[in-house]
Amino acid sequence: MKADIDAASCSSKLELLFQSHESNVDAAKCSKSVCPACHAATCFTRKDIRRRNLRYLRQNPVTSILHVAKIAIRLVRWKCFLCKYTFTDYPDFRTPL
Ligand SMILES: [Zn+2]
Repeated sequence: MKADIDAASCSSKLELLFQSHESNVDAAKCSKSVCPACHAATCFTRKDIRRRNLRYLRQNPVTSILHVAKIAIRLVRWKCFLCKYTFTDYPDFRTPL
């Protein structure tokens, strides 16, 4: 039973992270404060956005059955206007391949 509760709280935490990430994309906020290449602070312009589909385990709140849920998130590519380095701002819940 404890595993079921953990799975439910884990999937709801993930959904909160998804919402937080999407609101950061809407607000054009980058999660990094310095450029990964030249380490200059907050000198980014948004280059483009692409969609990425993710799958995660979600627990049905009524039946408590785990199932695979799909969600599409947007990944933003940022460009440093000092060194021209381009990078993707991957959220913590999704690591680069
Ligand atoms: Zn840079």
